Amino acid sequence: MFLQSDDTETLWEKNRQYLWNPFTQMKTYLDDEPLIIQRGEGVRLVDIHGNSYYDGYASVWLNVHGHNHPRLNEAIREQLDQIAHSTLLGAANVPAILLAERLVSITPPSLRKVFYSDSGAEAVEIALKMAFLYWKRKGRPEKNTFLCMGNAYHGDTVGAVSVGGMDLFHAAYDKLLFPTLRTPYPHPYRFDGTEQECLDSCLEKLRRHLDESGDTIAALILEPMMQGAAGMIRMPAGFLKKTEELCRQHDVLLIADEVATGFGRTGAMFACDHEGVQPDLMALGKKLTGGYLPVAATLTSDAIYEAFYGDYEEMKTFFHGHSYTGNQLGCAVALANLDLYEETDLLSHVDRLSRAILSEWEPMRQRRHVGDIRQLGLMIGIELVKDRKTRESFAWADAVGVKVCRRARDLGLLTRPLGNVITLMPPLAVSQEDLTAMIAILDQAIREVTE
Ligand SMILES: *Cc1c(COP(=O)(O)O)cnc(C)c1O
Repeated sequence: MFLQSDDTETLWEKNRQYLWNPFTQMKTYLDDEPLIIQRGEGVRLVDIHGNSYYDGYASVWLNVHGHNHPRLNEAIREQLDQIAHSTLLGAANVPAILLAERLVSITPPSLRKVFYSDSGAEAVEIALKMAFLYWKRKGRPEKNTFLCMGNAYHGDTVGAVSVGGMDLFHAAYDKLLFPTLRTPYPHPYRFDGTEQECLDSCLEKLRRHLDESGDTIAALILEPMMQGAAGMIRMPAGFLKKTEELCRQHDVLLIADEVATGFGRTGAMFACDHEGVQPDLMALGKKLTGGYLPVAATLTSDAIYEAFYGDYEEMKTFFHGHSYTGNQLGCAVALANLDLYEETDLLSHVDRLSRAILSEWEPMRQRRHVGDIRQLGLMIGIELVKDRKTRESFAWADAVGVKVCRRARDLGLLTRPLGNVITLMPPLAVSQEDLTAMIAILDQAIREVTE
């Protein structure tokens, strides 16, 4: 459908009347100029007025090979000519089976079974329910709580918020959430001491939790190597491996939430691969379909699968499922997405590019209000601070992050802030030229807004 230019006003009016956007203050949004996307071309998004923008957030951390990719479009069309959807409850379908095999083959060797859902939050909920029931089935029902990390983000459903660590959400929903134990995620920039001291201190706290409460903890859930929504916080090398070892020693399952980090975002196929970590459960979503359709997955070890395996009357069945679980269109495009990873040798591209841009941060590093630039692969956060020396933060009400991203939009790049952290999460297949242009836009926006 092509929109005539005189339709755009009407469309904006209908947005105002009928649509409630997620994670959006509607008052601010509706007071601003509309941003209504009509189409995508590679790493660019084009709005209904014909303005073109870099997709600097990969449509919020999803897009991989660019928009409107002929191969991915074709995979959906081909599948559509067969069937769009049939149920996975007590039945199966061709692409869901083939994709499960593919996922098992590329994830760490501990992971042997794939359970589908439709969003990252659901993939997390499923991992939590599986871990909880696993210990019950093992005759250890007292292992029924979760250890989670400070500032963690695992999605917006009630269970996922419960194991999250963002006070903003916890304060809002307090009584609705189930209680958990929380241990700090190492954040060297905000730690008073060296990176090594930060790592040691966080490990010590983790060890204490496990020593004191390991008998009541079903699982530890974390975002491996890099916390996303917390503000792109990069874990010091070695912490993840040590965490895995401590979990094993204390009979605590390890749940890796790779919804943001998975599929090459950090340079390795999965962030766990950086340290050869083999979790018991892994949540995947976001880039699984190349940013095309909502498919998510929870991968599990054989041991967990077997705790649910038995004769019908034993009632060991995992009573959980969603209507669109294993959707054929989504699984078909996910398979084509993974084919493209291989054909374009995408991980090498991400690795090369992430090194190539290291020197490009130099001008930005000198800016008066740039406190820290954190990068792993093509997962990037730029923390703005009021005072570089003291690392004093800007106040929430200053909305500095919001203003920088708004200015970047005028300059032709879309992204969203995480508080005072500006994120850059380009589609992984971005060219060096386009990535350099994106960094230049962010630098200009930061300068204009903060200096
Ligand atoms: C985005 C995200 C989720 C939630 O995924 P949805 O598909 O938005 O529900 C969970 N965990 C992490 C680490 C994420 O970044």
